[in-house]
Amino acid sequence: MKVPFVNLGLQFQNLRDEIMCKFEELSIKGSYILNAEVQEFEKNFAEYCGTRYAIGVGNGSDALSFSLLALGIGKGDEVITAPNSFIASAWSIANVGAKLVFVDVCTDYNIDPDQIKGAITPKTKAIMPIHLTGRIADMDSIINIARNHQIQVIEDAAQAVGASYKGKKAGSFGVTGCFSLHPLKNLHVHGDGGVITTDEKSIYEYLKKIRNHGLKNRDECEFWGYNSRLDEIHAAIANIKLTHLDSWNQRFRQIANRYSKALASQVTVPIDFEYENPIYHRYIIQHPKRDALSKYLYNKGIETKVNYPIPLHLQEAAKSLGYKLGDFPMAEQQAQTILSLPIYAEMKNQQVEYVINSIRSFEN
Ligand SMILES: *Cc1c(COP(=O)(O)O)cnc(C)c1O
Repeated sequence: MKVPFVNLGLQFQNLRDEIMCKFEELSIKGSYILNAEVQEFEKNFAEYCGTRYAIGVGNGSDALSFSLLALGIGKGDEVITAPNSFIASAWSIANVGAKLVFVDVCTDYNIDPDQIKGAITPKTKAIMPIHLTGRIADMDSIINIARNHQIQVIEDAAQAVGASYKGKKAGSFGVTGCFSLHPLKNLHVHGDGGVITTDEKSIYEYLKKIRNHGLKNRDECEFWGYNSRLDEIHAAIANIKLTHLDSWNQRFRQIANRYSKALASQVTVPIDFEYENPIYHRYIIQHPKRDALSKYLYNKGIETKVNYPIPLHLQEAAKSLGYKLGDFPMAEQQAQTILSLPIYAEMKNQQVEYVINSIRSFEN
C-alpha cells in the first residue's frame, strides 16, 4: 500500500465540475483581478471566522507583514514570537525592520505565555502567536498579557483555519488574523493565496490599499504599497471549498483521534483540551528514534515529514540576532523528535490503519 503525505488531486477530482465551471465562466468574462469573487470570498470568510472584515491578499506571508505595517511596526520595535514555525512567521517581522524576539513553546508546540512576560521590554509592540498544527495558542493568557502591557496581538493562523478555542474561531482574537491559502493548508487554492481578518475598520481600509499599490482609487496613490492580491480564480475556488471546510476538518479530527487512540502507548501523541477544537492541519507524533522511524515508514510506502527540523533561531538568516543552541530547549528537543504523519480529508480508513500498524511494528 502507498500512503503519500498529501494527495491534492483527489480533492480536485471531487470538486471538478464546480471548479471547471467557474474557471470557464470567469475566463469568458475576463474577470481576473479584484472583482466579485474576491468580494464574495471576503464576505464569506469574515462570516466564517466571526469577524467584521476579511481582506484577500497574495499569500500568508504578506498577510503577516501587512498586519505589522498596519500597526506601524518597524525599525526600533520588537515583536515576540515562537521559534518553531515556518520561516514566514519570522520573515514577516524581519521584513518590516522590527527586531525578532523568540520565546520557547509548551509541550503542545504553541508559545508559552509565562515566557512571553519575561521577554517584554519598552520596545515590544506586538506578540505574534502561531496556532501551530491547527491548535489555537493559549489566547486567554496571551490577550491578557497584551492588554496589561498595551501591546497588540497578530495571530499567525495560517495552519488553523476553522479551529476554535472556547467557542471562538482562529483569526477572531487578535487585532488581525493571518491565513494562508497555500496548497498544503486545510483551505487552499490552486496556487498562492492569503487572507487577513480584522474587526477594525481603519485596519481594514489600510489593508485594502496596501495590497494594491497603496491606491485609494483607480488613479490616486496614498502611500507606496505592494502588488499582493488574491486572484479572482483563486477566490472562486476558495468560495467553493469554504462550503466543504467544516466537513473536511471533521475528517482530519476523526483521523487524528484514531491515530491518538491507537498509538498513545507507543509514541508521544498530541492531547486536546476540552475547551478547544483543533483542526489537525498537521498530526505530529514524537519518537526518540524519529529518523529511523521515518525511514522505516518510507520503506513501507508511507511518506512522512518533519515540520520543522531547524528552529528559526538557528537558521543562518537569523544569525545576526545572536541566538544559540540551548536558548529554547523545548523547541529544540521537539525539532529532534517530531514526525508529521499523513493526514488529509480524502485519506482512506485502510490507509490510516496501515500507518498505525506500520508504526506499531517498528522495533517490535
Ligand atoms: C504556510 C504558513 C505561512 C505562510 O503562508 P504562505 O501563504 O506560504 O506565504 C505562515 N505561517 C505559518 C505558520 C504557515 O504554516
